[in-house]
Amino acid sequence: MTIHTVTLNNGVHMPKVGYGTFRVKDSEDLAEMVTLAIKEGYRHIDTAHIYGNEESVGRGIKKAIGEGIVTREELFVTSKVWNDGLSYEDTIAAYEESIRKLGLEYLDLYIIHWPGLDDNYIEVYKALEELYNSKRVKTIGVSNFHVQHLEKLLANTSVVPAVNQIEFQPRLTQLDVREYCKKHGIQVEAWSPLMNGEILNDPTLVEIAEKYQKSTAQVVLRWDLQNHVITIPKSMTPSRIRENIDIFDFNLSEDELGKISSLNEDFHYGPNPEVFNFK
Ligand code: NDP
Repeated sequence: MTIHTVTLNNGVHMPKVGYGTFRVKDSEDLAEMVTLAIKEGYRHIDTAHIYGNEESVGRGIKKAIGEGIVTREELFVTSKVWNDGLSYEDTIAAYEESIRKLGLEYLDLYIIHWPGLDDNYIEVYKALEELYNSKRVKTIGVSNFHVQHLEKLLANTSVVPAVNQIEFQPRLTQLDVREYCKKHGIQVEAWSPLMNGEILNDPTLVEIAEKYQKSTAQVVLRWDLQNHVITIPKSMTPSRIRENIDIFDFNLSEDELGKISSLNEDFHYGPNPEVFNFK
């Protein structure tokens, strides 16, 4: 099985498609779906402290490793620090708690979940730099950072984030953030790539999907990849889990990519980082 990856700015390989786990409770169902996703070829799992499900994500991973489907080294596991007012020490402790809950010795990517409304993310990021420099985590990055946040971060810290995980879907294409990230070697990753399932009846997508005999979800996820954006669709439905990674056998034309991008309305399905304050 080919695992399609991108090489991050520190040489680490990150699979282009990952399995998202937001809005799923800590449960046996989630552990089972994580194991299933790995069986189906996912090598990248995305969770976060605030999702409250790191333990079941970890159980699903452990089962897949135990069954010999995959080794730990073949997996790419991300978690996020809920950086609401955290100090440097709190952040180190939060990392330790996440890996303990996941039952892992290290994470492949640890990211700051939101910038928040002050510049406390700089102190939190310095703790991430310490984790990185002491080789306790393979890669560090951010999430929901706009250009102004990235500018301040780069001016005050030394490790350029490897990844910025942002909301990216056809109605929110975030060109300014993506251009800034490209210029600085920061890989963009899409959250809510399917707009939580609510973009899938769009007529433009339906028309393109019919042409390729693919689903509209597959078309959107393919559009992510052709825009050099890593994508992490979430599903608790086995057939959709399979479908969402079956996106490497067709290519959208430049015209189709443009048509999908032109659906942009700067519409935030989720919270806008400019006003998000951890509530
Ligand atoms: P998605 O855009 O991935 O959509 C998930 C929804 O779409 C679910 O209801 C799912 O249903 C449905 N779905 C999935 N695949 C298909 C398909 N092929 N056909 C039809 N419906 C489908 O939403 P998320 O918000 O979950 O985003 C993905 C991941 O991004 C999260 O799980 C999380 O890991 C991350 N994230 C990060 C954030 C951040 O701030 N950094 C914020 C939000 C998300 P069902 O499960 O019933 O199959």
